[in-house]
Amino acid sequence: MTAKVIDGKAFAANVRAQVQDHVAKLVAEQGIQPGLAVVLVGEDPASKVYVKNKHASTIEVGMASFEHRLPAETSEADLLALVKSLNADPKVHGILVQLPLPAHLNSELIINTIDPAKDVDGFHISNVGLLGTGQKSMVPCTPLGCLMMLRDHHGKLAGLNAVVVGRSNIVGKPMAQLLLGDSCTVTIAHSRTKDLAAVCRGADILVAAVGRPEMLTGEYVKPGATVIDVGINRIERDGKAKLVGDVHYESAAAVAGAITPVPGGVGPMTIACLLANTLTACCRAHGLPEPEGLTA
Ligand code: NAP
Repeated sequence: MTAKVIDGKAFAANVRAQVQDHVAKLVAEQGIQPGLAVVLVGEDPASKVYVKNKHASTIEVGMASFEHRLPAETSEADLLALVKSLNADPKVHGILVQLPLPAHLNSELIINTIDPAKDVDGFHISNVGLLGTGQKSMVPCTPLGCLMMLRDHHGKLAGLNAVVVGRSNIVGKPMAQLLLGDSCTVTIAHSRTKDLAAVCRGADILVAAVGRPEMLTGEYVKPGATVIDVGINRIERDGKAKLVGDVHYESAAAVAGAITPVPGGVGPMTIACLLANTLTACCRAHGLPEPEGLTA
């Protein structure tokens, strides 16, 4: 079997186009422009690239983008004051504080100071609790993107066996909650899981969020399963830099029914879902109907 490739790049372009359409309508009919504020503290090179891409994508769909670049030595008090001012700013519907923050700043305190209604990363403890209890929340972007692609591929997910490898707060746990919300039978695996390959071979849906390059080979995949590879790992091969996932693509694709590639799978969906979340937050803030299909 050769797996169908789930094209995250095309899917993300479609999500961004839907967001752009909604934004244009909001501006034309309501005079409301959704706005996203992104806060970057310090000079982490990867974070700088992410923030630059987020700014460009925000502008592209017609939203207002507010960038706040602060020096690495910014005090916690100053950062908290900025977050509070963004909470109070009616032009700002979404706030994202780029992680990781420099070590002297308490990330949990900063994130939990964001107004949950503007927490477009979905990391605020209130949103975590709302998602865990099946209530309307802001959903973390990466797992939301995975869910959208899975719903599109399968239609209904109810009754499918899902295995999520990884239990981080930003990917594994919210991914598992979302799959449970769609009535999958969910297993969360991690570094202490016994006989991981056998556990994974029980999955109709296998989500890899491990952070280990090409760890999950075809041996971990049930024939015909859908494989979602969240991993982004930079490796060197044959003297060249290469981006690979947590799944060994060639061997897994030979067994799976469908698979996301790296790059071009989950990655592009993350920013698209950030834009979708900002639009959703804006609609909720103004008591307007939420766009369909752009949240969980
Ligand atoms: P993380 O916080 O490092 O969590 C990794 C998880 O994998 C942990 O729960 C860990 O288990 C588990 N794990 C590690 N080694 C394992 C092993 N040998 N067997 C089974 N489980 C193992 O990573 P993360 O932030 O969730 O990110 C995961 C991957 O997704 C990374 O490659 C990251 O770059 C990528 N990512 C991509 C996007 C995107 O936009 N596409 C967004 C976020 C993250 P323990 O808890 O037991 O230690």
